[in-house]
Order: sequence, then C-alpha cells, then structure tokens
Amino acid sequence: MDAKTFDSKSLLDSLFENGILFESGIDGLYGRSGTFEEVIERFERLVTRLGAPDKATRIHFPPGMSRATLEKSGYMKSFPQLAGCVHSFMGGEPEHAQLLGMMADGGDWTELQKATDVALTPAACYPLYPTVAARGPVPAQGLLFELSSYCFRHEPSKDPARMQLFRMREFVMIGTAEQVRSFRESWLKRGKELIETLDLPCEVDLANDPFFGRGGKMMANNQRDQGLKFELLIPVTSIEKPTACLSFNYHQDHFGRTWGLKFADGAFCHSACVGFGLERVALALFRHHGPDADAWPAAVRDVLWSV
Ligand code: ATP
Ligand code: ZN
Ligand code: MG
Repeated sequence: MDAKTFDSKSLLDSLFENGILFESGIDGLYGRSGTFEEVIERFERLVTRLGAPDKATRIHFPPGMSRATLEKSGYMKSFPQLAGCVHSFMGGEPEHAQLLGMMADGGDWTELQKATDVALTPAACYPLYPTVAARGPVPAQGLLFELSSYCFRHEPSKDPARMQLFRMREFVMIGTAEQVRSFRESWLKRGKELIETLDLPCEVDLANDPFFGRGGKMMANNQRDQGLKFELLIPVTSIEKPTACLSFNYHQDHFGRTWGLKFADGAFCHSACVGFGLERVALALFRHHGPDADAWPAAVRDVLWSV
C-alpha cells in the first residue's frame, strides 16, 4: 500500500493480499480480518467517548427495517437505484417443485419469491424517526440518539470504499432548527478534530446526495444551495477524488413532517444526523499508515489503543 497503488482496483488487491479483506465473489461484499474489526471497534469507542457528554440514547437496529417505513420515508423517490428489499418463497408444494425445476434449468427461480415486509436499511437513521414519533411529543430540549447499523446500498464497485454492506455509526438530533444546526456545527468540528488525531489528511466540503433521474439534478442543486449536506473527505483510492468518510446532514423538517414528529405545542421538529462510515475510516487508516496495524505510527496507536 504505497503511493504507486493509489487507485481502487490495486488498493482492493493489496487489501486481499495482506489478508485485511477477504473476497466473496461479489464486488462490495467482503470478509473482514480480526485486525480490521478491532480497528473499527476502537474507532467506535473514540466516537462514543467524544459524544458521551451529550448523553445520547443508544439504539442498535438490525440491518433490516420495515419496508413500509422505507416507503413512507420517500427513499424510493430519491434513491430507487440503491434500495434493497428482502424477498422470500411463500408458495406451496407445487410452486416448490416448479422452483426446483427452474433452478435445475438455469431459469430465473426468483420469480417465485415475493417481497417480504423487510427492506434492507440504507442508512442507520431511517428506522429511528417512526420509532421516536410513536413515543409522543418531543421535549423542548430535543432528543439525541446514537445509532449503529449495517447498511445496504446496491452500488457494486471495485472501489473497496464503496461496499454494498457496510456499517454506519450515527448521531441524530431531533429538535428545533436552531438546536439541530448547532448540533451539526459541533460535530463538524469534533469529527474533523478526531480524524486529525489519527493523522489522516482531510477536508470538509459541501456535498449532495446522488438523487435519481432528471429531477434529481435539481434536488442535488437545491441541497447544495441550502448547505444541507457536508462531508469530511479523506483520500483513500484517489487524491483528486477523496472519499466521504463522515457526513453531516440537515434534513430541515422533512422527517418531522413525514413522521409527525412534533413538540407539545404542535410545531414540527427539525432533524440532523452525523454519519461515520466505519469501513471507510478503517480503510483510510490502513491506506495511510500501512497494512500492519502493529507498525502504525505511535501517536496513532496511542489514540486508538487508549480506548
Ligand atoms: P458517497 O458520496 O461516497 O456515495 P454518500 O453521500 O452516499 O457517500 P451518505 O449517504 O452520507 O454517503 O452515508 C453516510 C456515510 O456512510 C458516508 O459518509 C460514508 O462514510 C458511508 N458510506 C456511504 N456509502 C458507502 C458505501 N457504499 N460503502 C461504505 N461506506 C459508505
Ligand atoms: Zn442519517
Ligand atoms: Mg452514495
């Protein structure tokens, strides 16, 4: 992992060769080494320690969520290309025989599956909003959550930083516009400081989501004009196009209105979330400090191994 291997494909190959990631036959689905996992665990502990004074409520959702929730959230309007829905066989014996026959003939046996009520979670915060709304009015001081989830996005790639299944740790604030904006500001600062203590080069920049289709261009421009999304970028597979490792999103009152998240006086809540891409941060560490975590700079080891 030297300067010569600064592109997606060769970085992926060197991660395989060094036993950091393991191939599964599908781009974007990899096994992780024990050391890779340990780096993620330690980084998560640093994040949790940074957020500890804010006393967030911690919730760990599974990697699947209610399909109805995903539908109502508007995800299919903006990112139909990334969504994944779980399908299962629900037929009887005749359909089963048909299914086995189709498999034997190399046909598309998945036609005999039907969509279940479960969709794969595309971002850690999606299952949160209806869960909070069901608990009644939001208190005046707002609510803060710390989440962790495996997430799925159908974006197969040779870029090791673009996985199909990856983990996100998020802080989510639900409150007034002012509360959630100052929450986001504080994490823009804390997130950058954290990455800098790991001796990783980074910059924060305005960003937009990859909204689908022609209408998507307008939504992306709108998101940029209003400064709704920022990313902390670290060069992982390219210096010219650094990778978004943390993101800072202000949703205005979108989720508040969608889910009826309100204060006691009936005003809709605003929300913001800060997402840490755990695999991306680990990959940045291996990319910049080398394949052998035992040989990482002492200052970096001191920080990660202090927790
Ligand atoms: P990108 O622009 O690179 O596609 P994104 O804008 O889609 O990133 P977000 O939707 O903000 O990313 O997701 C939150 C965080 O999850 C990102 O900051 C990133 O660290 C991580 N992430 C997003 N997509 C992937 C992926 N395919 N593989 C690994 N991590 C990802
Ligand atoms: Zn989020
Ligand atoms: Mg993306």
